[in-house]
Amino acid sequence: MSEAIIDRAPSAHYYPLLIKNLLGNAVRQFPAQEIVYSDFKRQTYRDLGERVGRLASGLTGLGVKPGDTVAVMDWDSHRYLECFFAIPMMGAVLHTVNIRLSPEQILYTINHAEDDVILVNAEFLPILEAIRDRIEPVKQLVLLNDTDQTPATPLNIAAEYEALLAGGDPGYLFPDFSEDARATTFYTTGTTGLPKGVYFSHRQLVLHTFGALAAVMGTGQGHISRDDVYLPITPMFHVHAWGVPYVATVLGVKQIYPGRYAPDHLLRLIQREKVTFSHCVPTILQMLLACPTINETDLTHWKVIIGGAALPRALAKQARDRGVDIFTGYGMSETCPLLTLAQLKPHMLDWDEERQLDIRCKTGLPLPLVELRVVDEEMNDLPHDGKTPGEVVVRAPWLTQGYLKDPRNSEALWRGGYLHTGDIGVIDEEGYLKITDRLKDVIKTGGEWLSSLELEDLILKHPAVAEAAVIGIPDPKWGERPLALVVAKREQAVDEAAIRAWLQSFVDQGVISRWGVPDRVLLVEAIPKTSVGKLNKKVMREQYAQMLQAQ
Ligand code: AMP
Repeated sequence: MSEAIIDRAPSAHYYPLLIKNLLGNAVRQFPAQEIVYSDFKRQTYRDLGERVGRLASGLTGLGVKPGDTVAVMDWDSHRYLECFFAIPMMGAVLHTVNIRLSPEQILYTINHAEDDVILVNAEFLPILEAIRDRIEPVKQLVLLNDTDQTPATPLNIAAEYEALLAGGDPGYLFPDFSEDARATTFYTTGTTGLPKGVYFSHRQLVLHTFGALAAVMGTGQGHISRDDVYLPITPMFHVHAWGVPYVATVLGVKQIYPGRYAPDHLLRLIQREKVTFSHCVPTILQMLLACPTINETDLTHWKVIIGGAALPRALAKQARDRGVDIFTGYGMSETCPLLTLAQLKPHMLDWDEERQLDIRCKTGLPLPLVELRVVDEEMNDLPHDGKTPGEVVVRAPWLTQGYLKDPRNSEALWRGGYLHTGDIGVIDEEGYLKITDRLKDVIKTGGEWLSSLELEDLILKHPAVAEAAVIGIPDPKWGERPLALVVAKREQAVDEAAIRAWLQSFVDQGVISRWGVPDRVLLVEAIPKTSVGKLNKKVMREQYAQMLQAQ
């Protein structure tokens, strides 16, 4: 190709897409707009701008340099928002630590990401205390504290967050650098059991922000504008709370960060702050709708994107009955995450409620710039007829370019030049995707992944077990729960309670999270296999989901 590359005047400024460029205008144009942290703190965008400078300056004082990695272990807070900006803006990498992983997995992610500094909420100190001898090399710790009490801890705390900011410079000058610099990293629990690190550049996060903005900005069904009030209910450690804090900041809307999630607390915040826009996994919405204080909360102005798992129709209906504008979003850790949103097209607004519900519960239309295909095993496109399933593969400017320090899995993720989601879906004539199944052997319970392979390995270590398979089966509360199928060794006695107790011992050792103990363990004669002798999870899912439903 000999395309005509543009000329640049010698003095022309090449504008890198940097996260700092998302912040400046918002602070200048909406200085008095509010940012609220639970019941603890109210501040403004002006404060945000100043505190971002102070934080970067304070971290520089602790020795943080461009290219270093700064980890955060916090509940959703105004502090976390400050970290979303300050850490990448100074050229460092923000590692958002998933505090729901087991301590062993957290240790793995801290060492694997090579964190240089960890900002840790006082509540999570016990996790670090338990693993401190194995964190390499010794990290600097900054304490995040919501109380006046200094926690007793054997750990060496280098600074307290507010003191660090008080001594920092609000006018810290953030440099320009390459838009391809790594801005964030975090871990997703993979099929191998070891968490896998994904990473995003400044350019990717800026483009994700604008792709999402283009899709959601406006008025009417499924849209938000400057008058909205935003409360995220997917954790900030998980795919940057779907990147929406960046979107909300560019828009200059009022933002509410809830701290630890508890249904009555979230409902109180929605009512008190007049929240109009959120996103969460189905499990959380279900808990909110089942909360005794739900009747004291007006949800008629609330727009909520449901993602992380399929939106059950009954749940969508329940939310619609309360006046909620509910619709689905889809994406994954590897995709920054947003790929699709199930907003209604204008002509669908005249449809009856039931038909509209069908659309709201689909997986959605690709965002601008997202090329999304459903393909067969040879990467051929399948018809958009709403019934021919294939794997969802994607291209977009904001997909992780690999897994951190893991070339083999990186190449597998990107084989053929498309990112393989491991999800099976169909596309209908209107272009809406619907996820129907999953290729990957992971179980999603309450928004968190469990590796079925890791659970199988642990069960197989039991001396009386010959074969084991773990599958996810639909669960009305958690989306999915693990079900273990176990074949006992000949002449060995083992029962459900013994297997559960066996797995519980790994929870107690911090190897797996407490969600990893299956609610049900079935002792079976044989486990379904494919023609090449692999565990046939598709058949198991069908067979056992039906069987358990029938019980
Ligand atoms: P995570 O990497 O934890 O964000 O999980 C991403 C995975 O969650 C996807 O690959 C899907 O398997 C599942 N998922 C996310 N959103 C949806 C959705 N709207 N419908 C069905 N599955 C979803």
